[in-house]
Amino acid sequence: MIPIARPTLGEAEVQRVAETLRSGWVTQGPQVQAFESAFAQQVGAPHACAVSNCTAALHVALTALGIGPGDEVITVSHSFVATANAIRYCGATPVFVDIDPATYNMDPAHIEACIGSRTRAILCVHQIGMPCSMEAILKLAERHQLPVVEDAACAIGSEILMDGDRQAIGRPHGRIACFSFHPRKVLTTGDGGMLTTTDPELDRQFRLLRQHGMSVSDSVRHTSNQVIFERYDQLGFNYRMTDIQAAVGVEQLKRLPEIIARRRQLAEVYHQRLAAISGLMPPHEPAWARSNWQSYAVRLPSWCDQRAIMQAMLDEGISTRRGIMCIHREKSYPPDVWRSKRGVCDDMQKGCIDLRESEQAQDRTLLLPLFHEMRDEQQARVVQTLAQAVEAARPLERRP
Ligand SMILES: *Cc1c(COP(=O)(O)O)cnc(C)c1O
Repeated sequence: MIPIARPTLGEAEVQRVAETLRSGWVTQGPQVQAFESAFAQQVGAPHACAVSNCTAALHVALTALGIGPGDEVITVSHSFVATANAIRYCGATPVFVDIDPATYNMDPAHIEACIGSRTRAILCVHQIGMPCSMEAILKLAERHQLPVVEDAACAIGSEILMDGDRQAIGRPHGRIACFSFHPRKVLTTGDGGMLTTTDPELDRQFRLLRQHGMSVSDSVRHTSNQVIFERYDQLGFNYRMTDIQAAVGVEQLKRLPEIIARRRQLAEVYHQRLAAISGLMPPHEPAWARSNWQSYAVRLPSWCDQRAIMQAMLDEGISTRRGIMCIHREKSYPPDVWRSKRGVCDDMQKGCIDLRESEQAQDRTLLLPLFHEMRDEQQARVVQTLAQAVEAARPLERRP
């Protein structure tokens, strides 16, 4: 069986977790601090704050920006459900913008039409590790004085070429970037999340919000030789990362360069070999973007049935996934909790005109297996099996 993904973990992680357990300090403490410093340095951000997962990071980010009931946040429907959920946790309404079919990312051309008097922020997503058009999004955001939050859940190690140099996603380019360490992402801590920002005041807010709004953290009280009474001046959450998770994270970060290099190599082999399948569209990496290839998405030819191709691959022992979901098509997103450019879709059976590219991408794309230890013969088998499935479905008039 060839899996869709597999985390890259080893003895170094096991050792550090064992040391952490023996140390007697197991939740947010010295390991979290070490992970935060190493992460900040890795992405070139002045501040990094660890939390329990990326959904929590997004919630903290929007809360710190003061997003609340009655507000609107512009984002994409073509994302993991957590992106929009975080907006709703604040009592705000997600406004869905369609994607660029070439990159599967927010199309900046549609943003302006969605901005209204209640718009408070733009939450853009670097989907499956492909950087979104930050330059265009930032320009629009500046014109309308809106803060930008980057959902960089999948994007550790991705880069944009900006102002003539290569910059890591997460410096951040917007006000805040949020990362995930779920096992399906490039680095994992089991579960985990991170917020980065250049603003010390926002970072201070993150630290309060992640730990019950507590004015003095328990690790500070623990090491103080003075008696300290903490205060709870504002409503907070329990979004702590444990030191056990952070211990894994510190070792994972050391592997990042090797992991990214390997993923780029595997993606390059896919690009070359998939070019032979006529009608199939491999992913497009804009000239200014460097993906970490968290996932590798191909668009199927028009004559292919997505489910049938996936089943044919599964029958051959190859695991695939359909394209990224559309949040607005889920039952938990009835028409009164979101809107799009022209309002809400009145006929969801026929699809939402404003989000046509998002829907097409969900229905016509396929994610192929890509993981660090993937062997060349496994990759060759994926390409060969996909080619056979596409050819078997090709109608007579399309045959060369
Ligand atoms: C995975 C993912 C999330 C959620 O991350 P968790 O750490 O599982 O909470 C949010 N947004 C996107 C785009 C994701 O891919």
